[in-house]
Amino acid sequence: MRLDTLRDIACPADREGRPCRAGLVPDGSHPVLRPRAPAPCASAPRAPADGDEILEALLACTGCGTRYPVLLGVPVLVEPLGPYLRTHYYQMEEAQQAHGEFDARTRRFLTERMLDTMERPHGDLFKRPGITHVDRDPQYISAGIEFHYRPPPTEAYPPGSVAAHLTGIPDSPQGEAMAYLARSGRPAGGRALEVGCHVGGFVHDLARRSSFVYGVDLCFRTALVARQIAKGVPCPKGTYSAYEVSDVSVERPFRADTRRNADFLVASGARLPFGDGFFSTVACFHVSEVADDGLALLDDMARVLQPGGLQVLASIDGFRDFARMQGGNGAGPSPHGALKDRLQRTCRLLEEKDNIPWIRRNSRRSFMVHMSHCLWGEKRGAP
Ligand SMILES: [Zn+2]
Repeated sequence: MRLDTLRDIACPADREGRPCRAGLVPDGSHPVLRPRAPAPCASAPRAPADGDEILEALLACTGCGTRYPVLLGVPVLVEPLGPYLRTHYYQMEEAQQAHGEFDARTRRFLTERMLDTMERPHGDLFKRPGITHVDRDPQYISAGIEFHYRPPPTEAYPPGSVAAHLTGIPDSPQGEAMAYLARSGRPAGGRALEVGCHVGGFVHDLARRSSFVYGVDLCFRTALVARQIAKGVPCPKGTYSAYEVSDVSVERPFRADTRRNADFLVASGARLPFGDGFFSTVACFHVSEVADDGLALLDDMARVLQPGGLQVLASIDGFRDFARMQGGNGAGPSPHGALKDRLQRTCRLLEEKDNIPWIRRNSRRSFMVHMSHCLWGEKRGAP
């Protein structure tokens, strides 16, 4: 992140049921570390780093005093921090192995936050996810890069095969969203946000027509990869693992432009670290159906959207409890009907489109195919 990013950030801490939303400043007791001199990086030659980039720091809230770390350039704006660190520390360990150890004071801060939330002495500090999850994360990142950055295929599938058909389909919820922006005549510029940005592909698209774009994700590993691709920090990412079959991959090059007008944060979509009405466009693809609290996610996206601003939503029919919350005993509207109802509490529905294919290639022989429901809404109130 850059220091001037701090002007945009509001503390996401909750204090006795009230959001804090005060500003953040570098914590005076902790060094602000800049990107180091050229470091060995297996995947790509090192580009000169932006001199204003911060690699590591501690940020402190001027209101409630809560502190948040910046790790390898990624601000982790999650509160409470301890439980998050305990379930995601394996990702940070992996990042340290690839990019160099954190400063000793940073490690001490992280360890203290985790110890603060131990249920009992001598229990497990790290809550490791299942080994399957750890193994599949890199595959999801690879699939995300395939999907968003579309590197040219290295070999063709047999004509007429399902695989050839699936790889040839140009439609996607993200493509539909960009086509909508183009045909709707909405003015370019303004600040935009994507909640659940994964490896940052749609943030790249939005950055072409926005003054600045934030991508927010709860996964530290994907936020770091998104920053590497867009900002080249801590080192540029120019190759990815293309999975041939489940555990056999080849390293393939891909190209993506540098984006100075974009940045990536780790934060919850239900506790966004921004003030009210901060964005003119807020997008979210396929997050509401997996979020712990779909209602809180939709409400907080509406909060940070300015009146007259555009809400872009895509979902598949996969809500866990959302439809039940609305209707009880499965008698309520369909999941995407429930999403639409909720959207219309704050937004005027502009357009919707159903059955938009969302196709991701997980490996050479495995595709994930969903049909998305896309919604576009405009927040009510005077701009
Ligand atoms: Zn605060």
